[in-house]
Amino acid sequence: MFLGHFGLGFGAKTAQPRVSLGTLFLASQFADLLWPNLLLLGIERVRVVPGLMTVSAFDFVHYPFSHSLAMDLLWGLLLGLGYWLLRRNAGGALLVGLLVPSHWLLDLLVHRPDLPLFPGASPLLGLGLWNSMVGTQVAEALVFFGGLYLYLRRTRARNRRGRYGVWGLVALLLLIHVSALFSPEPTTTAAIGWGCQLLWLPVLLAYWVDRHREAAGPEAISAETRRGSVPSIS
Ligand SMILES: [Zn+2]
Repeated sequence: MFLGHFGLGFGAKTAQPRVSLGTLFLASQFADLLWPNLLLLGIERVRVVPGLMTVSAFDFVHYPFSHSLAMDLLWGLLLGLGYWLLRRNAGGALLVGLLVPSHWLLDLLVHRPDLPLFPGASPLLGLGLWNSMVGTQVAEALVFFGGLYLYLRRTRARNRRGRYGVWGLVALLLLIHVSALFSPEPTTTAAIGWGCQLLWLPVLLAYWVDRHREAAGPEAISAETRRGSVPSIS
């Protein structure tokens, strides 16, 4: 899954508008941001097997540290704790902590049974939606556009950067998604590892876009009247 993880990040803004969209993306996409680095370090392994699944040719031979449920729960705990130490926002920290293992659940839907529950001799799980091109695209689009709708409803642009930046971000994500479908599979682990570093770009862009948007909707308006000022997002 690709777009779906970002959709969940967009949608999570509704629950905790004070958490930056960049942080929400970082959490929901954490497993896929960690994975290429573990590949480059030789700690995790992948093989490219053309035709393995309709949508993906990746054979995830060994990836228990980035993609086991137990490790994603642990990374979530650490990231949530880190967020709490920086921002002292317990609700935000809880959300960040939950978004990290949400990645495993969305991946469970599309991967073939290759997702471990824990490092070591674990059963491998996966429902295999990547065997259906239509099914995959429908699932990706539902989560992505559903989350985007919630984000657009819950925030409003402070300025032109916030208004157009969010569409730039959406365009970038769609471009990465579509180009991955049509470009030839990378052949070496190094190419995969370095190529996936591109996924930091939407995270960084999301931090920037979110700074130019602010909370909107009935709760924000009542908070504004209570405080007598415009609510800010951090
Ligand atoms: Zn993943």
